[in-house]
Amino acid sequence: MNLPTINPSPSTAKVPTTPSKKHLLDLSAEEIGDWLAERGHPKFRGGQILHWVYQRRVRCFDEMSDLPKSLREELESCFQIYVTQSDATVTSPDGTDKLLVRLPDGGEVECVLLRDGTRRSICVSSQVGCAMGCVFCASGLDGVDRNLTKGEILEQMLLLQDRLPEDERLSHIVMMGMGEPLANLDRVLGALSVAKDEKGLGISPRRITISTVGLPPAIDRLKDAKVPYNLAVSLHAPNDALRSELVPVNKKIGINAVLDAADRYFESSGRRLTFEYVLLGGVNDSEDEAKQLVSLLRKRNVMLNVIPYNPVSGLPYVTPTKKSIAEFRQTLERGGVNVKFRQRKGSEIDAACGQLRRNRGKQVSSP
Ligand code: SAH
Repeated sequence: MNLPTINPSPSTAKVPTTPSKKHLLDLSAEEIGDWLAERGHPKFRGGQILHWVYQRRVRCFDEMSDLPKSLREELESCFQIYVTQSDATVTSPDGTDKLLVRLPDGGEVECVLLRDGTRRSICVSSQVGCAMGCVFCASGLDGVDRNLTKGEILEQMLLLQDRLPEDERLSHIVMMGMGEPLANLDRVLGALSVAKDEKGLGISPRRITISTVGLPPAIDRLKDAKVPYNLAVSLHAPNDALRSELVPVNKKIGINAVLDAADRYFESSGRRLTFEYVLLGGVNDSEDEAKQLVSLLRKRNVMLNVIPYNPVSGLPYVTPTKKSIAEFRQTLERGGVNVKFRQRKGSEIDAACGQLRRNRGKQVSSP
């Protein structure tokens, strides 16, 4: 199989050079407090600033009307609240908005807002590109460029929150955009700690899901962080031979090590695990594969999320037929596995990660 080029290692991915102004969203409340104190301002102003940014959704310091004008000017000369530009926005009739976000160094990532009943879920990127090389995925076709900063991850959340009317709030976050969140774990955890904070976005960790290709040491580090985020593991195959073809990092890891790490996470967090399985026509959708999945998952307290493939132009994979999707489902349900077949929400706007970036110029429209 023709594998995409993979850059050496996500841990060596560069971070951008520091611009002349600091990105406010990179700083913690304490760091803002320290900055204020160093300049003779009361530390509590830090709470006011963050309230304006996360709850009142302002984009410039001048609108922070309860701060002294001189402080607003000082902040303006040292910090930027937003550093990105949303280059293209595509809105789908099913209530899904997708943003292509241009970073200060020209890199691009994608993020999505999904409206479903009262839910307002967002899907956020963690890296520019991806080093995991999953053969069916658009995000990793050119390898990884760099890790996103904490501020760049948070900024995607704010850009998507901005698309909601004032009386609507974000309810769920999935780290399922471009990149491998566990290869950029410190920054992802930094951003999520603001997302879950009452003074930040106020989203319960139980409504936040981190999706991973399955990197056992990083799953253990996430477990040790002791915050009950949901863990989703992208399985995509029930045996090592097939998984190593579809998810090349599996060659060095193996399904058993991934499942063991996921079990440890479950034992420690008490959160039911999710496994994701992208269903590729004629590749991983046979009855035999469904039966193998049953024996892997039946005894575990898991939800299996089956996602019919969203085709990527230039790649040879196809969505399975309705008949084979139904048969796959029946085998799993008869085998006693909790299974959800995910709707292809937003598929007409390329909601599978990495596709909007690849197709830019061909079909995007303005907000
Ligand atoms: N790197 C992480 C998170 C990003 S991908 C991970 O692997 O989990 C989020 C999910 O979307 C993964 O399960 C991924 O395999 C799936 N995905 C990627 N491309 C897809 C496509 N074209 N159609 C359907 N799902 C896709």
